[in-house]
Amino acid sequence: MPEQNPIIIAQNLHKYYGQFHVLKGVNLTVNKGEVVVLMGPSGSGKSTFIRTFNALEEYQKGRIEIDGVNLNNNNRNIDIIRREVGMVFQQFNLFPHLTVLENITLAPIWVRKWSKKKSEETAMQLLERVGILQQANKYPAQLSGGQQQRVAIARALAMQPKIMLFDEPTSALDPEMVREVLDVMRTLAQSGMTMVVVTHEVGFAREVADRVILMDSGLIVEEATPNEFFQRPQEERTKQFLSQIL
Ligand code: ADP
Ligand code: MG
Repeated sequence: MPEQNPIIIAQNLHKYYGQFHVLKGVNLTVNKGEVVVLMGPSGSGKSTFIRTFNALEEYQKGRIEIDGVNLNNNNRNIDIIRREVGMVFQQFNLFPHLTVLENITLAPIWVRKWSKKKSEETAMQLLERVGILQQANKYPAQLSGGQQQRVAIARALAMQPKIMLFDEPTSALDPEMVREVLDVMRTLAQSGMTMVVVTHEVGFAREVADRVILMDSGLIVEEATPNEFFQRPQEERTKQFLSQIL
């Protein structure tokens, strides 16, 4: 594991929603090429935490560094970081009035300033990679949930990010569509992408994660290799959580 090559550093991160202390001093370092799975009960702060990595959430105390760029409230740094960090959400968040191809080429054309031709060629390659080349000219509503989520992954990849964040990417899917999305994510992990994945898919975590983390009440409770985490959890809180999901 490339221990010596940190690409995400979060140090003593604190965040409040008004009076509510949601992140209570979280520390996490993710190395290049590492796949980290984040688990924990609903409301423990998982989404809030990973959303700080691309400045979708502000924080009040602590430090975040993404690929050597300090994520403070400097807008220029935020722009740089958003180009490097792709995100996939539970609810896909595709633009409903744009075709699949247009969804994928929008940011490369407007943010990367690529030509339409280059953007479309890249998009078609990505659609092939996620297995839905035939759907390029359809609208999101004409696709299954699994296909929409694969479009969302392709759209994020179109910006050539160095890091991909996934926030419960299969939680809104019918069971028969979970696998096709996890397969795409597994292939992406094998290609060397740095990934932080919030999921309760234990099979995926066991097979793909380098590290599994349990978050509870705004703090990291335990982090370990998948084997250690699932077979020999150290903390009571982890044992309790696992007894609910296994
Ligand atoms: P998780 O993803 O682990 O379910 P979240 O990060 O979504 O947890 O939420 C953590 C806590 O912060 C929850 O108690 C939630 O109600 C609260 N919270 C999340 N977003 C907001 C918000 N925009 N305003 C106020 N409270 C919020
Ligand atoms: Mg969440």
